[in-house]
Amino acid sequence: MAPLRNSFLIRPVYDLLSSNKNLVRWGMSDDPTCPLCHGRQTTEHVLSKCKVALSQGRYTWRHNRVHQELASVICTAKGQPYPPSPSFSIFTT
Ligand SMILES: [Zn+2]
Repeated sequence: MAPLRNSFLIRPVYDLLSSNKNLVRWGMSDDPTCPLCHGRQTTEHVLSKCKVALSQGRYTWRHNRVHQELASVICTAKGQPYPPSPSFSIFTT
């Protein structure tokens, strides 16, 4: 698990995620635009700069899902029941 976790942490730092800008750079696509706002989709854009994602609550959703996972792991380690999860929207675009 450690190699996967390290890869997950390092890839955005070195701009190695499969953003549309990188897919164009790697010759795997010819469209660098964000499907949500049609701006240039860089890693930074995907992680925190897309105004449409912000207005739709996608960053809050991601934040809450991470907290849900952390709470689940902590409750499991402590042998406590995990409280029911709130309902989450599923984004399809
Ligand atoms: Zn965007």
